[in-house]
Parts: sequence; structure tokens; C-alpha cells
Amino acid sequence: TSFRDLGVSEVLCEACEQLGWKKPTKIQIEAIPVALQGRDVIALAETGSGKTAAFALPILQSLLASASRLHSLVLTPTRELAFQIAEQFQALGASIGVSTAVIVGGVDMMSQALILAKKPHVVIATPGRLMDHLENTKGFNLRALKTLVMDEADRILNLEFESEVDKILKVIPRDRRTYLFSATMTKKVQKLQRAALQDPVKCSV
Ligand code: AMP
Repeated sequence: TSFRDLGVSEVLCEACEQLGWKKPTKIQIEAIPVALQGRDVIALAETGSGKTAAFALPILQSLLASASRLHSLVLTPTRELAFQIAEQFQALGASIGVSTAVIVGGVDMMSQALILAKKPHVVIATPGRLMDHLENTKGFNLRALKTLVMDEADRILNLEFESEVDKILKVIPRDRRTYLFSATMTKKVQKLQRAALQDPVKCSV
């Protein structure tokens, strides 16, 4: 199986090749075609499985078709993961001119507010700081959002970010795509799945 076989656009296949990726990983083979069909995805996958590209490639392909601003939000549990995810979006999306913003704690709100005012295509955030901007940054909202990703959902919920995630779900469009990635399927993840996903396809590797 090649990235082309999965339905990935030529320009994005070339980006994968330039990163030295010869073929898709298992989670990519399972999740990418389903996501490209427009379905919600719930995937059980560990770090190292290639899960980031499994959600980044379908998002980039959607941006390729229509490059709207504040198109996608990736929620992730830690600062470190947020920067790693942004790096992969940049590496895969540089040739199509995708803009990303990392919104995490420990950076001053004002400089982040200026970055958000430029309306990047993709926002990669920890839930606490994103909620802070949704409540306090004038003019910032996620009403145009097309895709929500919850990365490492089990860890997000274990870090007591449940109420932030609930609040974020209330201020983004219902009509959107949602991809939930988690290493484990816990009660809290199941509850989140019911609240956030519509008729998802399950992938696990
Ligand atoms: P992740 O599971 O998303 O944290 O990815 C783990 C690592 O695998 C990252 O450093 C990626 O650059 C790399 N990677 C992702 N997809 C592929 C692939 N299809 N072939 C080789 N490496 C990959």
C-alpha cells in the first residue's frame, strides 16, 4: 500500500517522500481513507504509530481543496506534544503554504492573541490555554472550524481537562469532522466519544 493508494493528493505524497516515508503505517492505512471520505474517526493508537500524520494528511488535503482560516483545531495534553504536532504539519504542509499556531501555557496571552488574530489555518493547543483565549481574547472564535482533533484523549481527560473540553465542544460548529486518538479506551474516553463524534469509524492497530 502506498500513500497514493489511500487517496492522498500528489503534492502531499511528495511531502511524505521528502520526509523519507516510503509507505504508510498501519494506523495511516486504516484512518486516512476513512477520514478522506468525510467520516469521523476514533483510533486507538500509541505514540510512534504515525498517528499525527494519520490526522494531519486528511486535514491538509481538506485545506488543499479549500484553504479556510481557523479550519482545524488539534487539542493535545502537553506543550511538548503541541510543538511536535506543529512540526509535522509544517513539514507536510510547507509546500501548500499552511499556517499553524501553537497555543499552550507558559507563553504570554498577548503575543498569542496577535498570532490568533492572523487566523492561522490550523491551531494546535492545550485545552486550558485555548479556553482562556476563547473567553478572553476579543474577536477570537472557532465558529468557522471544520475539523476537531483530540490527540491522546485519554491523557487529556486524565489531566482534568474534561470541563475545558466540554466548553470547547459547546462553541465549535456541530457540523464538523472529529478525529479522536487515544492510547487506551477508558470510560471517560467513551463518554467523550458519545459527546463529540457522529457515527465514527473505529480504527485500531
Ligand atoms: P507519531 O506516532 O505521530 O508521534 O509519529 C512517530 C514518528 O513516525 C514521527 O517522527 C514521524 O515523523 C514518523 N512517521 C510518521 N509516518 C511515517 C511513515 N509512514 N513512515 C515512516 N515514518 C513515519
